Amino acid sequence: MKAKLIDLTRCTECRSCITACENWNKLEPHTIGKSASEIKASYEASNGAWELSKEDWTVVTLDPNNPRNFYKKQCMHCDDPMCVKNCPANAITKYDNGAVVVDPEKCEGVRLCVEACPFGVPVFDESEGVVKKCTLCYDRITQNPGLEPACVKACPSKAVTFGERDALIGKAKANPNIKYIYGGGEEYDSSVIYASAVPFDQIGFEKAQIHGIPNLLEKIVNPLGAAAVVGGVAIAAMHALKKRENEVKKSGGKK
Ligand code: SF4
Ligand code: SF4
Ligand code: SF4
Repeated sequence: MKAKLIDLTRCTECRSCITACENWNKLEPHTIGKSASEIKASYEASNGAWELSKEDWTVVTLDPNNPRNFYKKQCMHCDDPMCVKNCPANAITKYDNGAVVVDPEKCEGVRLCVEACPFGVPVFDESEGVVKKCTLCYDRITQNPGLEPACVKACPSKAVTFGERDALIGKAKANPNIKYIYGGGEEYDSSVIYASAVPFDQIGFEKAQIHGIPNLLEKIVNPLGAAAVVGGVAIAAMHALKKRENEVKKSGGKK
């Protein structure tokens, strides 16, 4: 199992990781059809992003009250992902290498993953009708020979590293600067591991509320109350509509 270790004691908040993610995944800033000033404005805007969006699959969070409170945020690539469990279209897959990836061809825009994710990661792209998020650079790490994720390669201070999960946990534990570890089996099972010198709540990092997470799809399949029934009907209707749209698309619009 692979993982990404984010050592916050080394992160300088430079945001090179954000730019690298955008470049590799062809997210904004796109250059086609834009003037030089538009490109510059777009670059500056996205380079300073601090909330995940359809164009920002990783961000460095910002606490306006304390500039020392920041951390690189992206999908945790959970071992038992609530997004996978709650996708009625089976559009999200947890791979053996650790990555959790949304298949845009299968995504029906139902958005239960957005509700269920304990870290607030998936973002719905209104224009394309699908959910977007970090892929752990699945298309890089599965090459032969495998490439590191783009954000890992770009990080000038080696605050983000990629490798075998057990080895990364060992590395973090052996580092005397690191006092707190979260993820990769430490408190939470995931293919992203955070390492910090200060408690996580001091940097605004919210751990998963493991016991409070609803399994929304299960509730809909086995509805316990009226609200669940209403939600279930709405989701079933969306599912059916999307299926119909796909059938029409495949038949060249003849249905
Ligand atoms: S962090 Fe959220 S989106 Fe990422 S794998 Fe976990 S549940 Fe899914
Ligand atoms: S692993 Fe890839 S997709 Fe995920 S944040 Fe890093 S560069 Fe972006
Ligand atoms: S590139 Fe590295 S040092 Fe710069 S913000 Fe990202 S994780 Fe931090």
